[in-house]
Amino acid sequence: MLPVYKINLPTPYPVGPVNVYLIKSKPCTLIDTGPDLPASRRALEEALASCRVALQDIERIIITHCHPDHCGLAGAIREAAGAQIFVNGVEAGRLTGERDYFKEIFPSLVKAGVPPGLIQELAVYMRARQYRQVPKSGILPLADREVLTFEDGELVVQNFPGHSQGHICLYDPQSRNFFSGDFLLPHITPNPLMEVSPETGRRLPAKKMYLDGLAHLLEMDIAEIWPGHGENIVNWQVTVDEVFRHHSDRNDTVYRLLGERGRTAYEIAVALFPRIGGFDVVLGVSEALAALDILLEDGRAKAEEEKGVLLYFKADGN
Ligand SMILES: [Zn+2]
Repeated sequence: MLPVYKINLPTPYPVGPVNVYLIKSKPCTLIDTGPDLPASRRALEEALASCRVALQDIERIIITHCHPDHCGLAGAIREAAGAQIFVNGVEAGRLTGERDYFKEIFPSLVKAGVPPGLIQELAVYMRARQYRQVPKSGILPLADREVLTFEDGELVVQNFPGHSQGHICLYDPQSRNFFSGDFLLPHITPNPLMEVSPETGRRLPAKKMYLDGLAHLLEMDIAEIWPGHGENIVNWQVTVDEVFRHHSDRNDTVYRLLGERGRTAYEIAVALFPRIGGFDVVLGVSEALAALDILLEDGRAKAEEEKGVLLYFKADGN
């Protein structure tokens, strides 16, 4: 059986603390790292010490997805311990700096009708928060269904995109524990964050990808979910049902917000979340676009482009 230790680390983000998991077997492994901040690093070192592990003992880091609360310290731990970093191939570019999230989503923000002043603000915010870059040589890309072995067991990598394009979860077939990253969380519905395919440059159907993953999860034999934030989830099917319901309610709300006059995704986002600014603009517009994508697919909404901005209408004109 894999010896797993749950470690809770502070973050400066609205989501609150993040969970990272120490697997004290050979090779000594961390699932996620916490953000690249002195307080988080200190808390990580203290927690490891209470498990009689030093930062320098970490041999392998598995990243569920490249958001700063989950991967921020990967570069620092690699510098300190020489640990090998394992991450889904499409996410790796976020760690090496080859992929620039803001640059990628810029055309989608313009198309969504986000005012230029807010886009400018966002550019400044995001440039100030770039990751500590990791050299390519330190990163090994993970494939779906890849098996990572330990002296005491194994973890199976499974792609669960939607919250991020290359989000992975990890399944321990022996204990039937499932490390969900941000794919499934207690009390929080993960945002289907807007992302662009590096191959086509087109925005991805994040919500559809996410909901397909949720349906797949229901077919799995899982004893307990070990999430990236909050307490473990035992009755996880109930949580999955709640998330499905949340998304279906959100689609209906967005449908009702569509009026006779076409509305942009940004206007929908402001109607859903008044007073958004900074990175919340990305989160809000992502939520709006995610619902609009589904409404378009279901034939409940239609979209027309006007002066480079997409306007959404109810398909039946009511
Ligand atoms: Zn997170």
